[in-house]
Amino acid sequence: MRRHLLSVDDVDADEIAALLATATEMHDVQRRQVKKLPALRGRTVINLFFEDSTRTRSSFEIAGKWLSADTVNITGKGSSASKGESLRDTVRTIAAMGVDALVIRHGASGSAQQVAQWVDASVVNAGDGTHEHPSQALLDAYTLQQRMGPLEGRHVVLVGDLTHSRVFRSNVKCLTKLGAEVTAVAPPTLMPSGVEAWSREAGFATSYDLDEVLPKADAVMMLRVQRERMAGGYFPSAREYTVGYGLTRDRLDVLGPDVPICHPGPMNRGLEIAADAADAAQSLVLDQVSAGVAVRMAILYHLLAGEDS
Ligand code: ASP
Repeated sequence: MRRHLLSVDDVDADEIAALLATATEMHDVQRRQVKKLPALRGRTVINLFFEDSTRTRSSFEIAGKWLSADTVNITGKGSSASKGESLRDTVRTIAAMGVDALVIRHGASGSAQQVAQWVDASVVNAGDGTHEHPSQALLDAYTLQQRMGPLEGRHVVLVGDLTHSRVFRSNVKCLTKLGAEVTAVAPPTLMPSGVEAWSREAGFATSYDLDEVLPKADAVMMLRVQRERMAGGYFPSAREYTVGYGLTRDRLDVLGPDVPICHPGPMNRGLEIAADAADAAQSLVLDQVSAGVAVRMAILYHLLAGEDS
């Protein structure tokens, strides 16, 4: 694996398989009473989050701690960034303390790539604007594989606010690398511009018609309507969005009880996903959270311990 994880482009199918195999071992740690491995003893991991987060930030922190690394959390709001310090000065200041890895979330697309050029530490992209969220895609692949076995040839349907979703962008790359068939479904206003060329090149399908695609799904991933990234009106009303693109009670019946449902969280219950679907036996939402710790342990381990351990 390279020194950084900035994008799913940084890992090929073999490296993804290796990471997910390590994650399987790391997942066992979660089931132990004493959740501690010595692998990253003496290493320092900084989580630098300029955007809000519940799952990603805490799971990277837990992952570091369970591997015995020293972890420090910094948020944009409580740091000198709120006094006007530039991103470059902030990350160079942190790096000067001698850190081994910097896990960064920032609202600007491309920021993680930029930060990697400013510091010697390994950089992990924990979400950069609407661009990528590679650790999320890896944990989604892990979760689906645990439930369905190899994803080769399986049809995964990604639905929602694709324009604003870094989870969508990373997942398309990861799932297609693993040989899955992917269909991306969104209303025309939330389908990313340029998707036609990208889908042709990357080999995935697009559709505006959820009801036509759902019966053919082996797994479905609902993505959040990201109001905080919307400047104008992308759909007439919440009700109309749900009618066209929500995973409603009726659509749950069409899916059948064996088709796994994923959502990266946070969920807008009643908008893109009905409570019946979010809490259904086939929902993997909490499995994704649990996998998040194991997969992030695997990422930190591969980046920092590598082949020496
Ligand atoms: N938590 C994910 C992210 O940070 C998904 C979302 O916010 O909708 O991208």
